[in-house]
Amino acid sequence: MAERIPETLQKKLSDRLGFYEDLGIRLFYRDRGAGIAVPNSAPRLESSVTTQFSTPDLQKEVTLPKPSAKPVLQKPSPSVMPASPKIAPLPVVAGPSLFESMEKIPNDSLPKIREDLGECTRCKLHATRHKIVFGDGNPKAQLVFVGEGPGADEDAQGLPFVGRAGKLLTQMIEAMGLQRKDVYICNVVKCRPPENRQPEEDEVTTCSPFLLRQIDAIAPKVIVCLGATAAKTLLQTNRGISQFRGEWLEFRGRKLLATYHPAYLLRNPPAKSEVWKDLQKVMAVLGLEVKKGKPAEAGKSS
Ligand code: URA
Repeated sequence: MAERIPETLQKKLSDRLGFYEDLGIRLFYRDRGAGIAVPNSAPRLESSVTTQFSTPDLQKEVTLPKPSAKPVLQKPSPSVMPASPKIAPLPVVAGPSLFESMEKIPNDSLPKIREDLGECTRCKLHATRHKIVFGDGNPKAQLVFVGEGPGADEDAQGLPFVGRAGKLLTQMIEAMGLQRKDVYICNVVKCRPPENRQPEEDEVTTCSPFLLRQIDAIAPKVIVCLGATAAKTLLQTNRGISQFRGEWLEFRGRKLLATYHPAYLLRNPPAKSEVWKDLQKVMAVLGLEVKKGKPAEAGKSS
């Protein structure tokens, strides 16, 4: 007769499976080698705009080499992914990524993902948060901004990017000819890390699958990672953001570009010109009018 599993272990297993279910990982027992589509997983930026910029060089798109020779989820079209120049392979952070087993959930939606997240207590950040900051904006946005995690203002209001860095992000969005309601803004972790520290690995691992579901559900044309945490999380790399900032990369068949986090720009205003160049590349891809010169409002923000 099969040995009886202790009740505490049974509960732990059941909680764990419930967690994976929330994340959309339902084929948990399937042989990973048996053809599960492997999403291409890949990574905060900051500033206002000061310099003249050159025409966006859309030929400079690059692909992120896959960590292994597994099948890709979706073959990028040539217009999305020109073959060259390529950047060097990004080192994988560790072991098989949780994203690798995440398939797109048919008919997933932001309300469903929010419901699955619930009053989350999955990681230690729940103990000190006031409000979960799920994300905000257009559920059908063509452009998604991904930050690191909520700060004090966001934690108090339950909305992303509403503090100082958020005001700068709003100015950047407006300089692109858009409004906040046109785009979707979210973070890698949904609860504020104490003292605004960087989210820890276990917190990112626990929370980021919800981000992945948000991106899949919105299906944007372009994802902009604001800073290293977002970029490293989505791209699953340890490489410094400066090595691939402003380059077109691919994430689950979508165009991804990493730029500096607005909080960094508040500390280093000269970097705003780099971010503006990056955003102009995004504008070109989205068919927004790219005007030469510096955006007046964002330029005044520092
Ligand atoms: N910084 C972030 O990364 N996200 C926010 O929502 C606010 C500040």
